[in-house]
Amino acid sequence: MDPRTAVVLMTLNLAVTSALIALIARRTQGQQALLFCAASTGLFAAAFVLRLTLGMASDHPMVLLADGVMVLAAGLFLHGQRRYLLQAALPLKPWLLVAAAFALVQVTLTHLYGQQARHIMLNSTLGLLYAGMAWLAWRGSRTLPAAERAAQRLMLGVAGLLGAATLLRAGDAAWRGVDTLFAGPTAQGYYALSSICILLMGPSVLWWMFVRLNSQLQQLAIHDPLTGALNRNGLQQAVRRHFAARTQQPLVWLLADIDHFKAVNDRHGHAAGDRLLQAVARLLMAQVRGADFVARLGGEEFLLAAGGLTSEQALALAERLRGEVAAMQLPLPDGPLLRCTVSVGVSAPFLQVEQWETHLKTADEALYRAKRHGRNRVEAPVSAESSPPSPQEGG
Ligand code: GH3
Ligand code: MG
Ligand code: MG
Repeated sequence: MDPRTAVVLMTLNLAVTSALIALIARRTQGQQALLFCAASTGLFAAAFVLRLTLGMASDHPMVLLADGVMVLAAGLFLHGQRRYLLQAALPLKPWLLVAAAFALVQVTLTHLYGQQARHIMLNSTLGLLYAGMAWLAWRGSRTLPAAERAAQRLMLGVAGLLGAATLLRAGDAAWRGVDTLFAGPTAQGYYALSSICILLMGPSVLWWMFVRLNSQLQQLAIHDPLTGALNRNGLQQAVRRHFAARTQQPLVWLLADIDHFKAVNDRHGHAAGDRLLQAVARLLMAQVRGADFVARLGGEEFLLAAGGLTSEQALALAERLRGEVAAMQLPLPDGPLLRCTVSVGVSAPFLQVEQWETHLKTADEALYRAKRHGRNRVEAPVSAESSPPSPQEGG
């Protein structure tokens, strides 16, 4: 493939990719990483158009502008990649400074030493930036959740290959001069390889976003948006996963319901009620060990699943949680400290996934007794030794 045809194809590919990513980014909330990738591919396309217009091997002063735009574009891509990886807003200024510093050095070098120095500088800078992309993708392939790693590995391969080829091209420019950069088998090989890499880059960015959005969707489907605890869907999945993975470990339910919660809403407003729900959920979730889990069953009722506990240990845990909720003080924006208590019903430990609903009913009955016995207390299932018989029971 001759270099000019390759650049025409890359330009078309980059322009289409940029438009597609920008369209998707506009419709996708909170995915600014995509916008930077769209800007990057768009700028690369613009730089290539300028180069094609001036001529591939031109030494017109405007080629320096194309060089600067390419370096800026690579910087923006790295910025988008870092944003995706760290999932946080980051300062853009360093990349603007890199592009400005590059432009300054590039103009000076070209003025002093001519086109050969310009090509060495451009290819070594771009090669390092592509290597940076590969490095970030390598980090992503190790630190991101498993579902997102394959897309990062593709990016690692593509950017790594492009980086290595571009650094070799810088070496070639230093060794053999500029003539071989645009004609002959080495040039053809370089442009064929970069076309393939550029062709794969767009889909790989879209793949990152697809897997990220897909896992966010899965998380939304199993979590309660207000408190972050599991919803009923998530609860069912977690129970099944627990017994599939550790069949020997019994599970015990601790069903906690906030006492007189309606009065909190009535007295302090619904927003304060929401804050209290979040605080109680946070407290419960902070207390559980690795494989345990917390679900919000609706309203102000939370279910904590604890693995590997005896009845006595489960009651002790419930008592500790009850005490911690009672000691909690939640400051409200308008001054007062909000306090609450919970009543907790505990089930017996159970060993089979089929038993979970029966034991949830047991925990619910125990919770009902805790409410009847005055609230802010823990009740065991009736059959357990630790459940004291109550004169008020049976109503
Ligand atoms: P008890 O001690 O018997 O449990 O009394 P309670 O007031 O806590 O229980 P009740 O079932 O009478 O009232 C529960 C209240 O929880 C009523 C409902 O408006 C409120 N609620 C349910 N979901 C939410 C929510 O997401 N946010 C807020 N702020 N309130 C909620
Ligand atoms: Mg309640
Ligand atoms: Mg309730």
